[in-house]
Amino acid sequence: VSRKWKVGRSYIDLGDGVLIGDGNLSIMAGPCSIENEDQVQKTIDHLVKNGVRIMRGGVFKPRSSPYAFRGLGIDGLKMWYTLARKAGIKIISEVMQVSQIVEMYDYVDVFQVGARNTQNFNLLDELGKVDKAVMIKRGISGTIEELLYSAEYVFAAGNEKLILCERGIRTYERASRNTLDVNAIPILKEKTHLPVVADPSHGIGIREFVEPVALAAVMAGADGIIYETHQEPEKAASDGQQTLDFEESATLIAHLKKAAALL
Ligand code: PEP
Ligand code: MN
Repeated sequence: VSRKWKVGRSYIDLGDGVLIGDGNLSIMAGPCSIENEDQVQKTIDHLVKNGVRIMRGGVFKPRSSPYAFRGLGIDGLKMWYTLARKAGIKIISEVMQVSQIVEMYDYVDVFQVGARNTQNFNLLDELGKVDKAVMIKRGISGTIEELLYSAEYVFAAGNEKLILCERGIRTYERASRNTLDVNAIPILKEKTHLPVVADPSHGIGIREFVEPVALAAVMAGADGIIYETHQEPEKAASDGQQTLDFEESATLIAHLKKAAALL
């Protein structure tokens, strides 16, 4: 995935004019977890209204506690897919284990590898055999080099449709959930030809500060921003504390577009 391998930058074409890494800022937004049809439809309406083409959402959720909501599973993904396709919205969702690749294949546009699976090398090997985009998140305590080696697993196995994601790392600082490593963005872009996306929601974990961190990531050269939004963040099944309501989300989208236009 080194820039020595390739002249110029890679971009991913998801079809229907949806590109990631083509020089325009990609925005991916949606809830932490897919919860029900009403929530999915409301999110889709919000995205369509604001010109966002890619929706995020988890149906297989890696939760710290086994008693927390762990997602709707494949049936939730199928329901989401039906509604999203009608609206021309692309889907990015987390795959947690090898067996889920086949299950999810027809219903996602981008497989997300979560921070807890960045070094699940068997999963990466298998995603390398798939003809579908993969976004790899940086591990919770993962170095930039480790993220690059994880990407290398997928790339070397034959799948070049790769996106890297800085989602915050665990440091000694406890004032925020994680520390979004803004440094990683220019460093990754210097080292690789792959598109680099930032996740300010998990990166800081505090709703009020998602916007400034997202804007900082754009200024640092991110090719895209992925963040969490929900019609009622207080009632979200997961990560409500870092989730924007639709009004905040619409403001963020407008500001992201303005920021990207400055570059
Ligand atoms: C998520 O995107 O909801 C998620 C679980 O992210 P991460 O793997 O970065 O913690
Ligand atoms: Mn989340």
